[in-house]
Amino acid sequence: MFVLLLGAPGSGKGTQGKILAERLGLPKITTGDILRAAVKDDTPLGREAKKYMDDGKLVPDSVILSLIQAELAKPDAKEGAIFDGFPRTAPQAELVDSTLRERGQRLNHILLLDVPEEELIRRMTARATAEGRSDDTPEAIRTRLQVYQRDTAPLVAHYAQRGIVHRVPGSGTVDAIATEINRIVGR
Ligand code: ADP
Repeated sequence: MFVLLLGAPGSGKGTQGKILAERLGLPKITTGDILRAAVKDDTPLGREAKKYMDDGKLVPDSVILSLIQAELAKPDAKEGAIFDGFPRTAPQAELVDSTLRERGQRLNHILLLDVPEEELIRRMTARATAEGRSDDTPEAIRTRLQVYQRDTAPLVAHYAQRGIVHRVPGSGTVDAIATEINRIVGR
């Protein structure tokens, strides 16, 4: 089973993805975590990605597409995975779709975590104090929200045509949202 978590920055994709991945016994693939690890290790990928991440911009598809390809090819992602933080652009969605299609697989569920913008900003600002993420500055938060609306939100319409998008109100407690996700995904 392949599940995609979609939602604005701060909408809780990471938190809910972790809970769901553990419950289903599936790996969670999180491009943001992979990129942050690369930045921390100061690899060539990390040095390239950092230029964009700190400003809240997307890392270019020329860099991300091969990363996604490599993640999908890993043995533990053969039977299913939870995708968190990608696909985020039309070319990324195209790559995910075609890779799964070639394997006779498909995205089974798309969970759209829906949180009002004031709440997103409040969460990310709180997280800045707790975790010190370099892209949780007011400026970068604003850019990330704009980039989400421009590049990623249109993917909802793309997937809605297939009838696999479930809108999940994302402002409740972590437990309540997890329960709602379990109801949708089943098993
Ligand atoms: P958030 O959803 O809170 O913005 P992420 O951890 O998903 O956090 O992403 C952090 C940053 O990493 C993004 O602003 C972007 O620069 C980069 N990034 C992560 N995933 C992708 C992706 N699929 N395509 C392009 N850039 C990405």
